Amino acid sequence: MQFPIFKTKIKGLERKFNLTDPKEQREYFELKAGKEIEKLRKYLKGNTFVAYLLGKKNSGKGTYSKMFAELVSPERVDHFSIGDMVRAVDLELRDVKRKKELSSFLEKNYRGRFSKEEIFRILEKRNTKSLLPTELILALVKREIERRERKAFFIDGFPRDLDQISFSLFFRDLIGHRDDPDIFVLIDVSENIIDERIKWRRVCPICQTSRNLKLLPTSRVGYDEKQKEFYLICDNPNCKGAKLLSKEGDEMGIEPIRERLEKDEQLMELAFSLYGIPKILLRNSVPVTEAKNFVDDYEITPEYVLEWNKKLKKVHPVRNLKNKRDSNIKLSKKQFGVSDGVKVKEKLWIFLDDEGVPSFSLLPQPVVISMIKQMVNVLNL
Ligand SMILES: [Zn+2]
Repeated sequence: MQFPIFKTKIKGLERKFNLTDPKEQREYFELKAGKEIEKLRKYLKGNTFVAYLLGKKNSGKGTYSKMFAELVSPERVDHFSIGDMVRAVDLELRDVKRKKELSSFLEKNYRGRFSKEEIFRILEKRNTKSLLPTELILALVKREIERRERKAFFIDGFPRDLDQISFSLFFRDLIGHRDDPDIFVLIDVSENIIDERIKWRRVCPICQTSRNLKLLPTSRVGYDEKQKEFYLICDNPNCKGAKLLSKEGDEMGIEPIRERLEKDEQLMELAFSLYGIPKILLRNSVPVTEAKNFVDDYEITPEYVLEWNKKLKKVHPVRNLKNKRDSNIKLSKKQFGVSDGVKVKEKLWIFLDDEGVPSFSLLPQPVVISMIKQMVNVLNL
C-alpha cells in the first residue's frame, strides 16, 4: 500500500515558517490553505461529517484530527477515541446514578448477543487487552454521537477489527436521522517512525504532556551525570521543572505491539480497497530524492542531537522557573537548552520507510494541509 505524495510546496512562496510558533503556524495555514479552510468553515455552519481514522497505533491519528479541528472550527468539529470512551464508561460504572442512566440507555439501544447482566459483567471484568463486543461498541458510539448533536467528528479506534469495517460502512444508516457524509481517513506512517516515537517517548508525570527526546524535545534539556542520561524538563510552568519520564517497556519500541501493527495494516488495506466510500489518504513521509519538489525544508521533522558539556553548566546560570514572568518568555535559539549544560543541535533526520527507501518524516502541519485539501475535494466544496 503506497499513498501518493502530497505537494504542499507553493511556487513563489519563499517565506520560511517556524511551525512551533503559534502565530507563524496560523500564517502558514492561511497562506497554504486559506481558501480551503474558509470553504470548510462555511460548509460546517450548516453541515457535518463523520470521519473514521484508520492508521497504525501511534500513527498520529489524534494529533492530525485535533489540529484540523482547532484550525478549522473547534466549536463544530470534535474528535473522540473509542479508548477514551471505554475508560469513561469505567468511571460511570462506579457511580450509582450514572450507571443507572447507562443501563437504561443500553436497554433502549443495545441489540446483540448478550443480556444486560452479561454486558455489565463484561464491562466490569474487562481487562485492557480484551475487546468489547462490536454491538456494544456500536451502541456506545451512537450515544457519543447523540451527545455531539450537529457537530462533525473524527472517530479514532472504530473500526478496530475486520468485522467492524462492514459495520462502519452502514453505520451512518444504522444511527439514522443524520445524512452526514462519511469518510475513511487512512494514515500511512512507516514502522521505523512509530518505533522511534515509542523508544524516545517521555511523559510528564504531572501534566501528562508527551514529548520525544530525539524528535520533539522540550525547551530545556538536562543531563544526569550519574546515570549518563539526558532528560527533558516540562515546559509547563505549573509543573515546576518536573523531569519527563519514559514508560516501562517503551525502550523495546514496536516489538511488543508487532501483532497489533500487522492487524492495523490488514484493516487499512481492506478499507483502502473498498468502493463507494470516499477516502482521504495521508502520508507522513517523502523519499529524500523527491522532497524538494513536494515540500519545503521547514516542513520536515528534524532530529535533535544532544551534547553534554560540563563547562557550559558553570558558565550559564540555570533558569529560574519560579519566576513567573520569566517562565513565559520563550528561549531564543541561542539559549536553547544551553543553561543546563546541554547543547541541542538540529539535524536532518533520514530513515528507511517500509519499502526501504531513504525518507524524510513530515511535521504534522503539512500533513494537515493535505487533509484539509482532500477534505474539500471529498465534500465537493
Ligand atoms: Zn508537565
